[in-house]
Amino acid sequence: MAETHDLHPDTVVVAGGRPAPAHDAPVSPSLVLTSTYRGISDMTDADRGYARMSNPTWDDFEGVLGRLEGSDLPALAVASGLAAVAAVMSLVPAGGRVVMPTHAYQGSQVLVDDAAAAGHLTVTRVDVTDTQATLEAARGADLLWLESPTNPMLEIADLPALLATTRREGILTAVDNTFATPLLQQPLGLGAEIVIHSVTKYLAGHSDVVLGAVVTSNPELRVTLQHHRSIHGAVAGPFETWLALRGVRTLALRVERSNQTALELAGRLDRHPAVSRVRYPGLPQDPGHERAAAQMRGGYGAVISMELDTDAAGAQHVVEALGLWTPATSLGGVESLIERRRRHHDEPDSVAESLLRLSVGIENVEDLWADLTQALSTVKLGS
Ligand SMILES: *Cc1c(COP(=O)(O)O)cnc(C)c1O
Repeated sequence: MAETHDLHPDTVVVAGGRPAPAHDAPVSPSLVLTSTYRGISDMTDADRGYARMSNPTWDDFEGVLGRLEGSDLPALAVASGLAAVAAVMSLVPAGGRVVMPTHAYQGSQVLVDDAAAAGHLTVTRVDVTDTQATLEAARGADLLWLESPTNPMLEIADLPALLATTRREGILTAVDNTFATPLLQQPLGLGAEIVIHSVTKYLAGHSDVVLGAVVTSNPELRVTLQHHRSIHGAVAGPFETWLALRGVRTLALRVERSNQTALELAGRLDRHPAVSRVRYPGLPQDPGHERAAAQMRGGYGAVISMELDTDAAGAQHVVEALGLWTPATSLGGVESLIERRRRHHDEPDSVAESLLRLSVGIENVEDLWADLTQALSTVKLGS
């Protein structure tokens, strides 16, 4: 499929990962369920061997994701987004130092905090919107971890500036690209060594799969990460991987629609009297807008955070009053989800008690808006 290399991403999601064209070949990829493979001669790395090491259904998905992220190498599918985070953290030597954003995916924060508490590494937290401070903290560190937009504050890191410097100075840098998807930004091309995804979110896209992936363009690093996957055992289920590729087929459509709806809703919420602050990088007045406009293409994502002019109970009440929006954690599915973030006890105090995180799905924008306005009418202004 060499000729497909130059295809646009919205074609790659459809055309990639299909059986080789031959008469009577199936058009769609197979779900290969096996724990082992036939073999007689001495085992080599090229052999499939055993299904903790290799699976044809992984290959179909991994080739597509690698190409979407602009790598010549296939991605590595793993059991979950957190398994991808753990695989990258395994690269940090004993006693090493990791630089993390103050606001980042909660599971990633807990994972590094647990490792620090056990004495395996130390953690420095930075405001990733402050490029100078981030680079200063990253000098001499063993890993710089980046998210942009961040969870749940939707802050934008200056990825081109940060990654150009970390590449030049040889600072190992990984970007969690879950919120943006490879359609909006491709950090490897900017200089990141590693990209990870919670495939659970936009890539699979239907809230029915837990899966993760690691992507790199560095062949040695890929061998190391692949070895980690085989030996630590957090391998992808073939069925989950098959479902994820099925979800990827509509990624471009889902991202386009949900991003458009998110931009429209963010603008309307920003003008709503019960909403004290909207965080969405697509809004011209958002502090991250200029950067996002320069480094993201085609949209600003489909996650919005809003602070309400009320307390925790009032915000909780709004969530309860919604009908179409589903109250649930997670994001990136076709159905719109909403949650008060401080219901998670490990969410930092810098996240307001009234902050609601919205994951905008692909429903009709007016139906989503009507549900939001009726629920927001329960807020007693100024309470
Ligand atoms: C959900 C999520 C993860 C963790 O992924 P799982 O698939 O739930 O293990 C990591 N990073 C981000 C940004 C996420 O949203």
